[in-house]
Amino acid sequence: MSVTAIVGAQWGDEGKGRIVDYLAQKAQVVIRFQGGDNAGHTVINDKGKFALHIIPSGIFNPETLCIVGAGTVVNFDTMAKELASIASAGVDGKNLFIDRRAHLILPFHCLLDGAEEASKKSGWAVGTTKRGVGPCYSDKASRVGIRASDILDPERLRVRLEMMLPQKNRQLEHYGIPTVTLEELLEICAKWREAFGSQIVDTFPILREAIQSDKEILLEGQLGIMRDLDWGIYPYTTSSNPTAGGACSGAGISPRHIDSIIGVVKAYSTSVGGGPFPTELFDKDGEKLRSVGLEFGATTGRPRRCGWFDAVAASFSCWINGFTAIAVTKLDVLDSFEKIKICTGYMLNGELITDLPDTSGQEQAKPVYEEMEGWMCSTEEARTWDDLPPKAQAYVKRLEELTGAPIAFISVGPERDQIIIMQ
Ligand code: GDP
Repeated sequence: MSVTAIVGAQWGDEGKGRIVDYLAQKAQVVIRFQGGDNAGHTVINDKGKFALHIIPSGIFNPETLCIVGAGTVVNFDTMAKELASIASAGVDGKNLFIDRRAHLILPFHCLLDGAEEASKKSGWAVGTTKRGVGPCYSDKASRVGIRASDILDPERLRVRLEMMLPQKNRQLEHYGIPTVTLEELLEICAKWREAFGSQIVDTFPILREAIQSDKEILLEGQLGIMRDLDWGIYPYTTSSNPTAGGACSGAGISPRHIDSIIGVVKAYSTSVGGGPFPTELFDKDGEKLRSVGLEFGATTGRPRRCGWFDAVAASFSCWINGFTAIAVTKLDVLDSFEKIKICTGYMLNGELITDLPDTSGQEQAKPVYEEMEGWMCSTEEARTWDDLPPKAQAYVKRLEELTGAPIAFISVGPERDQIIIMQ
């Protein structure tokens, strides 16, 4: 029995959802520890294909307690829609709970998100999904935010909203957006209380009990380290910490209690949104990665930027997160490439570097590649290491060596069983 954190080792969209979905089959608790409904996990299992945005991927197992943790920001309207979408597949969502400390995304957060993004100078757009996540976290940091527990206490809620509203309405007016009234917000929160009130709980005693009784616990991250507020490509980042460190604070679990940290890496690189992306390809290989890998956002449908595997970023990610193992996803997408490149260093100011520089360094860095032979056959049916062609084995071994953590899983297709479990 153990606590395992699963985090994105690149720019997000690594395929974390399917790894969590797989591990959640035996997990007793799954906790989303940061972020909001601004990124999607695609989960394909025996119940169908689902795009989850805020609900933990463990939801499909009715025995699994699913927690939306204290470090998240929650839009109850989208949570309701998501619950409705899985209800049609017979998943009742009764195993879903939201921590009292999670912050709430209110409708004006979404409007401000879009307006703030539109006001940025050309080239500085973050590429937000306009889900209100950034403005909600700003309010949290400014200590004016509304927490899930506030809606359970109408008097407290009224006072908190009264204090927050004048400033919010000034911001809305500044952007020419219609202002909001206290009554409107109270009405929305009353609706949310009605729908979710019984699921807003204090998760601290629940998790303490789960750890003390040696339950199997998964901590589920969203996005990836390169979008981390502190260690990512600031300002093109999200407003929270999708790293293993963020898992501790967001879920309320001490670093001492985390036994394994699994970094999910795609066998190549993709990024959605702004900011540097040194291995980005603008040629037919980039196009091919996008079309074969179906690299379009689960939340927005936006085409993802595609490039070769960046081992400089991966080894940085491994160090900051402290991966005990990695899961390599989407190996099958490379099946028809004759040559595959791996970025092993950057040229920056005339020097070869292998430590990831910060944002401005990444903007100027030129990737240095090594080239490997492609295997030119399908890996989709592989279920063991020995089933993989030798050239695919060599590629995966090289990723392991450059990243710096042993490989625990290799996925070769989106279906639940298209996975190789390394012993
Ligand atoms: P997440 O946010 O990290 O969970 O990633 P997404 O769900 O946004 O993106 C991963 C996408 O790749 C989804 O559409 C998955 O169904 C798909 N996927 C995951 N693993 C594999 C794989 O091994 N092969 C292929 N071809 N697709 C995969």
